[in-house]
Amino acid sequence: MTKVIDKFKNMSKDAKDIFSIVQKNGSLTKSQILDLTKLKLTTLNRIINPIIKNKLIVETSIGESTGGRRPTLYDVNNIDYAIIGIDISRLYTQIIFTDLKLGIIYKERFNMDSSYTPEKTVCRITEICEKAVLMTDLKRRELITVGLGTVGPLDIQKGIMKSPVGFIADNWTSTPIKKMLEKRLSLEVYMDNGANSAVTLESLYGYGKDLKNIAYFNFGMGIRTGAISDGNIIRTINDVEDAFAHMVIDVDGEKCSCGNYGCVECYSSIKSITKNFKKRIINGETTTIQKPIEDINYIDISLAAENGDRLAVEIIIKAAEIFGTGLSNFINLLNPELVILSGPLIMVSQLFYKVSVNTAKQKCYLSKHSNIFFNRGGYFKEDAISLGAAAIAIENLLKSY
Ligand SMILES: [Zn+2]
Repeated sequence: MTKVIDKFKNMSKDAKDIFSIVQKNGSLTKSQILDLTKLKLTTLNRIINPIIKNKLIVETSIGESTGGRRPTLYDVNNIDYAIIGIDISRLYTQIIFTDLKLGIIYKERFNMDSSYTPEKTVCRITEICEKAVLMTDLKRRELITVGLGTVGPLDIQKGIMKSPVGFIADNWTSTPIKKMLEKRLSLEVYMDNGANSAVTLESLYGYGKDLKNIAYFNFGMGIRTGAISDGNIIRTINDVEDAFAHMVIDVDGEKCSCGNYGCVECYSSIKSITKNFKKRIINGETTTIQKPIEDINYIDISLAAENGDRLAVEIIIKAAEIFGTGLSNFINLLNPELVILSGPLIMVSQLFYKVSVNTAKQKCYLSKHSNIFFNRGGYFKEDAISLGAAAIAIENLLKSY
């Protein structure tokens, strides 16, 4: 029996295009597909019939009648197949199973502590996948492929995570993560960095649909950035995603982990917010947080700031003003229509989000001449990287070159 991944790969470019349109816009009548593709009916029939025969597109329920016979609707087969999307970040790993329209069938997340080396992480991912298939209706579905959104820099061709900084556990250097996952899951893996995965997802299925210029920032252990300019993802050598984080914002600033001084990340990441807060406590300042200093984390600081803790408010505002200043430079440079701020810090700190956006709006000269939309969390919130990885896998299957 032909594997479904091969059915995708063997489709013609025209068939892939039709599948993509139906997948992103369905259910559609034939006349709606004709409107979208500008094809003739005979050509559409010639292209779509083999896809229906292969059960990748199905004729579904009856469309709304405009008088006369009710038309048939066409949609992708959302019952028989599943895709796995994996988000390996420094703070957590999330696994998600989706149908062909990125509807979530199952998801699970675990925190990355000092024991999560690449080997243990892949082992835990495999266990979760096996459990999910046993416990849910996934056992009836054929698994097609896997998408991985992870921390750069990457060698995507070779499937290697090169030298990401900030993992708590050891051995995250030159990790052949693609091969490791393919061996354990017996499926092909497509990978990209997490920020690219998320911005691709938002542009194809989320708030960025129909927009050509989108910027996505994820605040976790570091600051990860993905951007789409004029409809194309901006790719850098080695697919690093933290270049923005190392934009110098203060020429006399603090020393950064990259060896330079005064980078955005020295002030505005979870790591630096926590470090700067603790430094001020050690220097004798007080806080309402009732915890031993070594146990205080970014969630405590963010929540204390939401509740008016003086020191926490000051640290968060300073961090957000510095990020917002960097963001205004970024906006002036790339002129995005939509700026999404997301990730663990943004989701817990309304204050950080508000001050960042206000600062960027004040300092950015372009905002006076164009409508820039800002959004907290994007459409997909904390699922953006894992779902985005599944989206990247689908887009790779539909690549016609
Ligand atoms: Zn730096």
